[in-house]
Amino acid sequence: MRLKTLEISGFKSFADQTRIDFLPGMTGIVGPNGSGKSNIAEAVRWVLGEQSAKSLRGTKMPDIIFGGSSDRHALNRAAVTITLDNSDHYLKSAYTELTISRRLYRSGESEYLLNGQTCRLKDVTELLMDSGMGQDSFSIISQGRVAAIFNSKPEDRRSIIEEVAGVYKYRKHKEKAQRE
Ligand code: ATP
Ligand code: MG
Repeated sequence: MRLKTLEISGFKSFADQTRIDFLPGMTGIVGPNGSGKSNIAEAVRWVLGEQSAKSLRGTKMPDIIFGGSSDRHALNRAAVTITLDNSDHYLKSAYTELTISRRLYRSGESEYLLNGQTCRLKDVTELLMDSGMGQDSFSIISQGRVAAIFNSKPEDRRSIIEEVAGVYKYRKHKEKAQRE
């Protein structure tokens, strides 16, 4: 499985439709301070289902929508699409290429799409669970997270190990079954 492309529009500083191709051999994104490097990483986390506005450096989710600049009006919609090469079927899907999209409007309306079809957040979450790419996974470590892991409570650290070991998914299923 490989990250192929990221398309961003109206997300944070990326007002215009921007496409980033992650070609084989690419290892980093460099640029001056404030040019949008962290915003790219946040776009990846957001499209994969991030629910915390705070962890995206905002106070409420619509803060991620392009808020305008000296020469541009604010926009009403943020949209991000990620394309993954799944030819090894690392993610449990019959598709060899997967696209996940997320859109958010200032009105608060939002949607997720899997390969162009509207879906629920749950579908995205389930697809990514135990892949190491889902929410709270460890493929994206933001500044400050390392210290947070070291300082976390034993039970929180346990869930990190469960996620990495791939048993977290089953615990979530069990908890849900017990509630119902
Ligand atoms: P550094 O090297 O300092 O870490 P960076 O390349 O990671 O910088 P980012 O933090 O990704 O930079 O980008 C910051 C820029 O994004 C700021 O100029 C900020 O004004 C802009 N920005 C953030 N949110 C929005 C938004 N909702 N609308 C418009 N611009 C935004
Ligand atoms: Mg940064």
